[in-house]
Amino acid sequence: MNLYNLKHNEEQVSFTQAVKQGLGKQQGLFFPDNIPAFDDIDALLDLDFHPRCAKLLAALLDNELSEQELLEMVTKAFIFPAPLAEVSDKISALELFHGPTLAFKDFGGRFMAQCLAKFSNGNKTTILTATSGDTGAAVAHAFYGMENINVVVLYPKGKISPLQEKLFCTLGGNITTVAVEADFDACQAMVKQSFDDEALKQAIGLNSANSINISRLVAQVCYYFEAAAQLSKAQREQLVVSVPSGNFGNLTAGLIAKAMGLPIKRFIAATNANDTVPRYLASGNWEPKPTQATLSNAMDVSQPNNWPRVEELFKTKGWPLSDLGKGVMSDAQTAEAVKALDDAGYVCEPHGAIAYQQLTEQLAEGEQGLFLCTAHPAKFKESVEEILGREIGLPKPLADRADLALLSKEMPADFAQLRELLMSI
Ligand SMILES: *Cc1c(COP(=O)(O)O)cnc(C)c1O
Repeated sequence: MNLYNLKHNEEQVSFTQAVKQGLGKQQGLFFPDNIPAFDDIDALLDLDFHPRCAKLLAALLDNELSEQELLEMVTKAFIFPAPLAEVSDKISALELFHGPTLAFKDFGGRFMAQCLAKFSNGNKTTILTATSGDTGAAVAHAFYGMENINVVVLYPKGKISPLQEKLFCTLGGNITTVAVEADFDACQAMVKQSFDDEALKQAIGLNSANSINISRLVAQVCYYFEAAAQLSKAQREQLVVSVPSGNFGNLTAGLIAKAMGLPIKRFIAATNANDTVPRYLASGNWEPKPTQATLSNAMDVSQPNNWPRVEELFKTKGWPLSDLGKGVMSDAQTAEAVKALDDAGYVCEPHGAIAYQQLTEQLAEGEQGLFLCTAHPAKFKESVEEILGREIGLPKPLADRADLALLSKEMPADFAQLRELLMSI
């Protein structure tokens, strides 16, 4: 697979290189220079989940990894299903939250971990990341138990939810969690300082497991095919997919699936009040505003970093950008949507509910709708319970961890202490 830097087209790398490097020159994103299309989608959809993932990834990566290698990797990474739940005869939810950290980021994170493990060739690797909650959990679980890879996650002490903390600070083994006596920005600054320290970088094989890593996106392509495979042929020929969007990685993956021949009629990019993209689609002007805190906080992004990939894809495929549906929801509308879904018999959290509401408003006669449920309702327990006025249960992965002891180390925001810790593991 050949990829080019969207900011410096002459910088071209293989998939392996793009995964190891994360970003190109000047923080440019890597983008595939060719997306292969399947002629016989029905035959592909007839395959079981893992063999289908291996086949479509082998094609997308242009056999840089063999189908057999990919089969092993996806079997280890995707250890949970992506089922459809029917909300009405015209609308289904694609549930992407059955992984260990209850959000769709488990798909990308776990496949990226498989890639990094494979490409490190047994050399010692240290993944260092700072988190305000979600990413840290997904990264920690994705690498848990892997040989020669250590993960260190920094987080602001007392500033993430107790449940979040239980989810990834109870693992132990190759996962070290550090509660820093400072805020998230200070944690991030310590991470940055580590990456600027060449001697440290070399000594411990530092890598970042970055959220814009191309391996995450290719992994996410797989569940769009899995969704279509669960629909009838007639349904999937009329498919409209609504994606709750923050950094627009999920939408990028869906568009790649369409470019590979999956018959998706159109997409809806649904956002919360952080609506830089919907405003851009309406006016043609890119005018980010300060980020606002909302009920759907994983989408509180005003400068979505995957957007250049979306535009490049529309451009190279010759699709008009006006084909992309859009929709913006306030918190009050989001709460109404959570209630409406509950009335329809489906408990959903705010992110998925935003996608649902926009889908119901924009679905035309004869079309079949799919919305992405990006997190388990329990992951946003407080807001869902407040909106619905009743308690919702904890799913097993969280319930199992709730009684375990926290294993985090505590540390002031002091780089020298972090460096010492990194060198000692
Ligand atoms: C990350 C996240 C999103 C946004 O996905 P993008 O790929 O960044 O657009 C939506 N919902 C949840 C629950 C998330 O964690």
